[in-house]
Amino acid sequence: MGIHVLDSRTIDRIAAGEVVERPASVVKELVENAIDAGSTAITVEAKEGGIEFIRVTDNGCGIEREQLPTAFLRHATSKIEDADDLNHIASLGFRGEALSSIAAVSRVEIITKRKENLTGTRMVLEGAKEQSIDEIGAPDGTTFLMRNLFFNTPVRRKFLKQPATEGSYITDLMEHLALSRPDISFKFVLGNQTRFHTSGNGDLREVIYRIYGREIAAELVPIQMEENGIKVEGYLGKPVLVRSNRNFEIYFINGRFIRSGVIAKAIEEGYKQYLMQHKFPLCVLHITMDTETVDVNVHPSKMDVRFSDGMAFARMLSEKIAITLRNREMIPDASLED
Ligand code: ADP
Ligand code: MG
Repeated sequence: MGIHVLDSRTIDRIAAGEVVERPASVVKELVENAIDAGSTAITVEAKEGGIEFIRVTDNGCGIEREQLPTAFLRHATSKIEDADDLNHIASLGFRGEALSSIAAVSRVEIITKRKENLTGTRMVLEGAKEQSIDEIGAPDGTTFLMRNLFFNTPVRRKFLKQPATEGSYITDLMEHLALSRPDISFKFVLGNQTRFHTSGNGDLREVIYRIYGREIAAELVPIQMEENGIKVEGYLGKPVLVRSNRNFEIYFINGRFIRSGVIAKAIEEGYKQYLMQHKFPLCVLHITMDTETVDVNVHPSKMDVRFSDGMAFARMLSEKIAITLRNREMIPDASLED
């Protein structure tokens, strides 16, 4: 066969495997695009665990008709111009790989309209091939419909789990996205059930209430600190809310949901005197720091981050958690009304 460079369709399909591993990765990319587009309300609907149907509707800036085909090309992005911009990324996306990757392995319909235009545009693609593009009446914003994930890559499709399991991955993701942005209204519908609907009024406690329910929302202690340019804000679950795994230690760095051994240890250290072995706290923390201090430019599917003085930050965080819990131990709860 000799050495040769692959054609672009083959390259796209290979690349798609890195961005689109499962339905939840499609949802993540589409919702991040909606957030980057400045949306204040985002609806996500998924059927069959997202394998057959994912629809994300936003009220963001929309895409100009002339630019729509370009948006589906690999490495097409409106978010950075050149390598220098990589040092101060404000958006969630910037690699320009999501739309091309999703379109390469599914059937896609996008309807989008910019506020300043009278009409919108509808474009249909199948396995990255453009089927049609035409003018259509539409509300401001973008609706992205994906159907039949991996219809053209049967091996990959076989590796998907049962719809119930894929659906639970989407649910976890949607919860984290809603918790990451209390200022955006999220509606999440799985099958024909609305799982949650947040108001977008900016109140993190209300989002926790919508997602985890009254019992948990009533047992929260607010935490807030700022030191060395690092800000932490959010809620600590009281020790009565102990969990048997780490899934409820939720923290965001600069709006991104991440997992970090250093931060997990710091949280558990702060709770140390309240927790028995193999028990874990519940908390939701928003951590904000200079984009120069934290390296988010790791692979898109990786949720870990590196930051320059992790140990100093960890010490500060666990002390603050310990103090906050100690101070609030004696104070009775304010109950939360609907
Ligand atoms: P990236 O997000 O890394 O820029 P994507 O492939 O996810 O790359 O999207 C390509 C481009 O399409 C984005 O840079 C943006 O300009 C546009 N786009 C995608 N989704 C939306 C959306 N929901 N609303 C407005 N513009 C969008
Ligand atoms: Mg994107």
